[in-house]
Amino acid sequence: MRGRRRFLTGASTLAGLTLLAQNRAALALDTATDYQLIIVGAGTAGIPAAIFAAARGARVLMIDAAPDIGGTLHLSTGQMSAAGTRLQAQLGIKDSAQLHYDDVMRISKNSADPQLVRLAVDHAADTFDWLMDKGFRPLPDHPVLGQGHEPYSERRYYWAANGGRDILAVLRAELAPHLASGRVDLLLGTPVTALLTDDAGSVEAVRVQAGDRERVFRARHVLLSCGGYVSNPELFEQLSGVRDYGDNGYAYSQGAGIKLGVAVGGFVRGRENYLSNFGSILADDQFPAKVFARFQVIPQLRAPWEIFVNVRGERFIREDEPSFDRREVALLPQPDLRFWVIFDDEIFANAPPGVIGFSRDEMRDAFDVHSWFQKADSLEALAKQAGIDAAGLRATVEEYNRAVATGRDRFGRRHLPRPIAKGPFYAIRHQGHSTTSTVGLAVDEQLRVIRARDEPIRNLHAAGELLGAGQLMGQSFVGGMMVTPAMTFGRLLGQRLPL
Ligand SMILES: Cc1cc2nc3c(=O)[nH]c(=O)nc-3n(C[C@H](O)[C@H](O)[C@H](O)COP(=O)(O)OP(=O)(O)OC[C@H]3O[C@@H](n4cnc5c(N)ncnc54)[C@H](O)[C@@H]3O)c2cc1C
Repeated sequence: MRGRRRFLTGASTLAGLTLLAQNRAALALDTATDYQLIIVGAGTAGIPAAIFAAARGARVLMIDAAPDIGGTLHLSTGQMSAAGTRLQAQLGIKDSAQLHYDDVMRISKNSADPQLVRLAVDHAADTFDWLMDKGFRPLPDHPVLGQGHEPYSERRYYWAANGGRDILAVLRAELAPHLASGRVDLLLGTPVTALLTDDAGSVEAVRVQAGDRERVFRARHVLLSCGGYVSNPELFEQLSGVRDYGDNGYAYSQGAGIKLGVAVGGFVRGRENYLSNFGSILADDQFPAKVFARFQVIPQLRAPWEIFVNVRGERFIREDEPSFDRREVALLPQPDLRFWVIFDDEIFANAPPGVIGFSRDEMRDAFDVHSWFQKADSLEALAKQAGIDAAGLRATVEEYNRAVATGRDRFGRRHLPRPIAKGPFYAIRHQGHSTTSTVGLAVDEQLRVIRARDEPIRNLHAAGELLGAGQLMGQSFVGGMMVTPAMTFGRLLGQRLPL
């Protein structure tokens, strides 16, 4: 005989991350079927969990708020990292999970969670080999050392022509027979709104909103794999501690898993790991805003002719800094994660166009239509229009021009092709923003959601971005360390949970 059921709602406000328990003993269980595993979120982590649990004969219920499975894989670049794979062996690449681990800890400056990183890298190759066995095909020259993030020391970084959608195609095909056999039931368009615990605090059921009805499903284990909070601006600011500037996450990444987990005694961690990307030109000031364009700030792809200044008109980095991580870390203390790319007419006429995918003429046109592109005859007028401190900008440009003349830059910049001297002058505003959620629900090395005293909440597990990007990458962006761990942790839970 079970104890009296207690409902803990995830729907109330998250103020202070304390959610009040709501007694709803009157709500009857609305299902005849008990499941061995309920998976909340049919995305990157959730689908592998369903596939591997069903392969062991488990009865699984997978529930998703969205009208389709796949989650962030619909948008993700799908870059994965795995060491010791068969593909590497075929290519004669000598690599190991230990080297992968060492690289993640080096790149993250030891700020990633060692236990979770170990679990992820030790099992990444099996995840990747399984995907390959099931038809996944990375780009022909892969694996590579890196792209867009600090490079690895060995070639263990892979993705496919259609990014995350190519991974999803494999997962979809592997899930299909389990749906057909009835081992996995799938509920779409059905947000999970609460976890139901018994008197001892063990999770025993989930409540869902199915149209205008609430339903409850019971299971031996519940896996929260419902993603991050990157599309919930209020929660983003509360948890990550900065404004949510960019609108580029999956719409259903609303932080539901954090609310659900905290409501039954879990807690969040990792705020200190927040890191923004190095900035994009966003569509407008209505934040969160879509990306309008990106300037090529990677010096290995285009040596900079311009300078970067913050709102005070000050430079904050050598613009040809080769390290992705050092660039991103340098942006972090700048007011509002904002900077302007400054140049003059001579640079505009002679440098390769800096806005990615734009010709020089297209760039010129942007100064007439987009408020983040400003042009003026003097530096003072430019500063005023752009919202930068004019005296600061003037002093910075004078100092930079002396560096160009002497070949000696205070920041150590080496590429000093021209002074910024001849009007009109130009400023293109950039905004740092995020595509992932830094903070996450605390789990132990078995991926059990834990209370503050390290004590697991019985029957409740979590995987994916819900754990917080910072747990696997620390205060850094480490290539492939979200998609691969999400799939790996889902797979391991599907294989290992005592069902
Ligand atoms: C543009 C972009 C590019 C990226 N590129 C990379 C990359 O190249 N490499 C990398 O490692 N990482 C990358 N990431 C991050 C990575 O893709 C994600 O962290 C990862 O896919 C998240 O997996 P997940 O299983 O945690 O969540 P998801 O895959 O988002 O799945 C969560 C699921 O839960 C569902 N859900 C939400 N709330 C509820 C609820 N209340 N009830 C039921 N279901 C719910 C959602 O609808 C969704 O289907 C990228 C992210 C973005 C946005």
